[in-house]
Amino acid sequence: MKLLLLLAVMLFAVWLWRSARAGEDKAKPQPPTTPSPPEMSRMVQCRHCQLHMPVEEAVLGVWGPYCSSAHLSAAGDKAPNS
Ligand SMILES: [Zn+2]
Repeated sequence: MKLLLLLAVMLFAVWLWRSARAGEDKAKPQPPTTPSPPEMSRMVQCRHCQLHMPVEEAVLGVWGPYCSSAHLSAAGDKAPNS
């Protein structure tokens, strides 16, 4: 019977310790979580074949973006600075 009481006291102590720790975690001010959003590159659409691609990969013409220089010339467009 004494052993049971000891076990109960120990369990109570563990429970107390765990709940105290949980309270500690809650009391701690959470660091501001500002995960930097993944660099989303803007998507543009080829004016000739309507293919979507990141703006860095697009070939820019006078009238708009193209997926390749072939489509730029196929659409009758030309590069702005040529
Ligand atoms: Zn295209």
